[in-house]
Amino acid sequence: VEFEHCGFPSTLSGNLKKAGYEAPTPVQMQMVPIGLTGTDVIASADTGSGKTVAFLLPVVVRALEKQACGVSSPVALILTPTRELAIQIEKQTKELVLGLPNMRTALLVGGMPLPPQLHRLKSNIKIIIATPGRLIDILKQKAVQLDKVKIVVVDEVDTMLKMGFQQQVLEVLEQVPKDRQTLLASATIPTGTEELAARLVCDPVRIVV
Ligand code: AMP
Repeated sequence: VEFEHCGFPSTLSGNLKKAGYEAPTPVQMQMVPIGLTGTDVIASADTGSGKTVAFLLPVVVRALEKQACGVSSPVALILTPTRELAIQIEKQTKELVLGLPNMRTALLVGGMPLPPQLHRLKSNIKIIIATPGRLIDILKQKAVQLDKVKIVVVDEVDTMLKMGFQQQVLEVLEQVPKDRQTLLASATIPTGTEELAARLVCDPVRIVV
């Protein structure tokens, strides 16, 4: 299998190629087709497996859909426990959306000044990459609306729990419509993670790599 033959819009296929992604990794092979059908997914996949691109491809394809194009508030939300991870994810997102119209991203993370992040939100953002605490601060200021979000990714669910972000994740997702698609990624899925996961997804398909 090669990405070239997956039927992605040609700009996206070209971007995958430019990034050096020719053949999907095992997690991508499983998660991308399922993610594209709109089904919720719980994937146990660790850093290095290619999990980021695995969830980003469904995110980008959904953000490109007709219903998403005309919307002037974010249609995709990616939550991640740390600033460093968020920065990495935004970088990979930008690689994939290069040259695609109307695909601006916003990085909303703590440990960086808030005003530029608030300013950025005024420019028709399609995809948010955020850590939970900073996003809650921004939601309290009503500087962004999540009511048009169609797809949510919660990355490193196990780390979210370890860092004590469970309530914050739930609080954020309360503001996202229930009929959204949700993709979860976690290195391991111990009991606590399983419980949190169950509150975030609906009829999920499980992927283990
Ligand atoms: P991740 O597991 O998302 O942290 O990704 C690990 C690394 O694999 C990143 O540096 C990606 O750029 C790279 N990568 C992701 N997908 C592919 C692919 N299909 N082919 C080659 N490298 C990839």
